[in-house]
Amino acid sequence: MYPWLSESLGQLLPLIARRQLGHALLIKGTAGLGKLHLSQHLAQALLCDIAPDEAADISAVLPCGQCHSCRLVQAGTHSDLHLINSDTRSIGVDSIRQLSQTLSESPRLGRAKVAIIYEAEKMTEAAANALLKTLEEPAGQATLILVSAHPERLLPTIRSRCQQWLVPLPKPDLVLAWFSEQGLAQQDVGAHSEQSWLGALNVNQGSPLATLAYLQAGLDQGRHALLSQFSQLADQPQTVMAVHTALLANKVHLTWLQLLLQDALQLALGLTPAALRLADNLDLARRVSQVGMMRLERALTGLLQLQQVGQTSLGRPVNAGMQLSLWLNDWLANAK
Ligand SMILES: [Zn+2]
Repeated sequence: MYPWLSESLGQLLPLIARRQLGHALLIKGTAGLGKLHLSQHLAQALLCDIAPDEAADISAVLPCGQCHSCRLVQAGTHSDLHLINSDTRSIGVDSIRQLSQTLSESPRLGRAKVAIIYEAEKMTEAAANALLKTLEEPAGQATLILVSAHPERLLPTIRSRCQQWLVPLPKPDLVLAWFSEQGLAQQDVGAHSEQSWLGALNVNQGSPLATLAYLQAGLDQGRHALLSQFSQLADQPQTVMAVHTALLANKVHLTWLQLLLQDALQLALGLTPAALRLADNLDLARRVSQVGMMRLERALTGLLQLQQVGQTSLGRPVNAGMQLSLWLNDWLANAK
């Protein structure tokens, strides 16, 4: 189990042991925190054969990891645990109806039934409405665990019927220690200092698993290259098309740029480098900050609008490309 999930387990397992967990739980939090792992561990605890009165401090032993149920859950073959983990774009009404039907039957093995709906925000409206019925009339021994990094996309009526748990972002030093334990050597992923790990963590919204995937894919080098190129744009305006293409390649690239501009603004305002998000891009932020506070604020406002355009114009990349051209022209005109 990931070390940053201990806090959540420490709070949720006692509820299961004391049978105080509601029949529906919504586990929410940034992508890349291991929420599915957490929900599977909770499911194992709900299904574990150890009865609450068999141990004084049941939460310390739940799930036991030894009993028949625990072994089946670990093997992924427990017939009372149902997981909807779809890699398609949506979760349809048929899967939810089937799940509701299964949950209404009595447990086959033990004392409980558990269903996990991973990425629950992918439910279609019809699927969500079908689930609502199950939430309104819960079967006695069934627990539903919804997992979502975007709970705001769920129907409010679904959210309100769930007990909600937000998995907090871990402290950076805990994540860095975990990276080391994973044998993730800094030089292997192109990171050269603790600061570059922190920078990588910040561009991934503090999410350890997203950062790990990002580092292992060698994407951090791309960040340094892109931001470096952007910071020299005023001196090398002929590279503007290359920067434009690179920024459009992935919407996260605009986030990198946003963080750099925010750091530059911090410096322009006279704040200390310690407050920077991308401390490993300090030199670049210094260079960019020379355009001054007003222009940085203007650029950031424009970039924010640009990111919103990117969100609403899915399937219309031409529009986003044009907006980015205008933004870059504006930046060049003002950065000289
Ligand atoms: Zn067990």
